[in-house]
Amino acid sequence: MLKGIAASSGVAIGKVYKLETPVINIVDRTGNPAEELAIFENALAKTISDIEKVKERAAGNLSEEELAVFDAHLLMIQDPEYASQIKAQIEGGACADKATKDVSDMMIAMFESMDDAYFKERAADIKDVSFRLICNVMGLVIPDLTAIDEEVIIVAEDLTPSDTAQLNKKYTLGFVTEIGGRTSHSAIMARSLEIPAVVGTAGIMSSVKNGDVIVMDALAGEIILNPSDEERAAYEEKRNSFLKEKEALKVLKDAESISIDGHKVELAGNIGGPKDVQGVVDNGGEGVGLFRTEFLYMNSEADFPTEEEQFEAYKSVLEGMGGRKVVVRTLDIGGDKKLNYYTFPEEMNPFLGYRAIRFCLDRKDVFRTQLRALCRASVYGKLCIMFPMIATVKEFLEAKAVFEEEKAKLLAEGIAVSDSIEIGMMVEIPAAAVLADEFAKHADFFSIGTNDLVQYSMAADRMSEKVSYLYQPLNPSLLRLIKMTIDGAHSQGKWCGMCGEMAGDAGAAPVLLGLGLDEFSMSATSILNARKIIRSISKKDMEELANKAISCQTEEEVKELVDSVLNH
Ligand code: PEP
Ligand code: MG
Repeated sequence: MLKGIAASSGVAIGKVYKLETPVINIVDRTGNPAEELAIFENALAKTISDIEKVKERAAGNLSEEELAVFDAHLLMIQDPEYASQIKAQIEGGACADKATKDVSDMMIAMFESMDDAYFKERAADIKDVSFRLICNVMGLVIPDLTAIDEEVIIVAEDLTPSDTAQLNKKYTLGFVTEIGGRTSHSAIMARSLEIPAVVGTAGIMSSVKNGDVIVMDALAGEIILNPSDEERAAYEEKRNSFLKEKEALKVLKDAESISIDGHKVELAGNIGGPKDVQGVVDNGGEGVGLFRTEFLYMNSEADFPTEEEQFEAYKSVLEGMGGRKVVVRTLDIGGDKKLNYYTFPEEMNPFLGYRAIRFCLDRKDVFRTQLRALCRASVYGKLCIMFPMIATVKEFLEAKAVFEEEKAKLLAEGIAVSDSIEIGMMVEIPAAAVLADEFAKHADFFSIGTNDLVQYSMAADRMSEKVSYLYQPLNPSLLRLIKMTIDGAHSQGKWCGMCGEMAGDAGAAPVLLGLGLDEFSMSATSILNARKIIRSISKKDMEELANKAISCQTEEEVKELVDSVLNH
């Protein structure tokens, strides 16, 4: 059994699909030229058909221009000169693996050494195409998430946000990663897709191969390799009772989020795009508390999404929520969130670097396009806009001023913009939490981003499982920062929400209610359980609990206090 971090609950049993880029390791065997030629010919035919299939699958999503890249790849692979050089080497005694690798390397070097920028760029295409060919010659599988057509459990070193965006929910029973923590983006995406996930599972990549059967218990964070029949049966039962419990919570879909002494809070959902809205509505979400717009940018292939594309996405979310509040976060790119069409400067610490609002205030052209799209969409619902990674009052005021300018320009053009858009900010940098009462004089609301607030307070990379023990949202130090933020908002009559993963953590709900949090925004699948907890406790008692919690010394002590309340 391997131990990891339960990141998205559920239980799954299935075949492993390993997402691993093959390593080319040439061993020069002395082969029979006829057999080696046959290996090469078969691999060449398979490579042509693979590229054709990739092109077919991409056809719905890419423009003509983007699809043309595949035609160029087909031309390259079918170049008679390329094949004849490889064949000549095989006939001269080289094995198919070595002949293909040597000729490909030579071609790549030749294109790379050319002065013409066009030909230099072609070297990258040849690398891509020849890599496919060599893998086929050597019988190595290049994983392709979009090609999966049976139920599997994906096992990977890590899943990038764009890998996760490609997952087909129909065939993905769950995923297990070697690295990562509860708040890494793959984990967050898994929760919004309702796919069980275990992350930070040291040793998983070297322990399984494609086709192995594993059990993933994403409630306990455990992976069982090649389970016996009894183990399988036991976990099937565990899965069924998990699903039954989930079903039973549905009676709370339209119930109020109200404590037993009558204090109401708002339970909202976090989304990554219009397709997630239904999940929020189905799970009884009272609004969207965080729309991570960076996914619009990451899913865009060739350039930043246009004003029109963004307008359509925001309009669709606002309409889909039927007048309920939607908090849209402006572009939070950088860190581990990369774009295909824009290269971020190399930095030693990208999480502490040029990202989010820092990028937007520097690239105001990109920022203005997003704000215009948002202003135009604002008339289709109840829009709130917030800025990510705000560290100083000056940054907030500068961002807000850009918004005001774009709004004024649109109005001058005769385009309608709602006059009740609220402008708030994420509190996810300790400096902002400490100065919350001052920020609250300018912001309409706060949303506490605990994923980053914990990371920056503890100086512990949220992607690193080695330091994941420092992900301690219930540590009294964090609770004090949260209290400062909530009190800061309330001192100016503003509301305070939370959209980090802590907001959906059942163990944190009593303390957060006690601290006075107004809005809890979480993965849609956590909403009903949070409602069940809020409806079972009293605000007054939780205030007492929260007071005790902030005077504790360790997270363990706080957890004990909360446990005594939840299991009273
Ligand atoms: C956070 O930091 O808590 C947050 C909600 O933002 P993200 O996870 O997208 O960084
Ligand atoms: Mg954040």
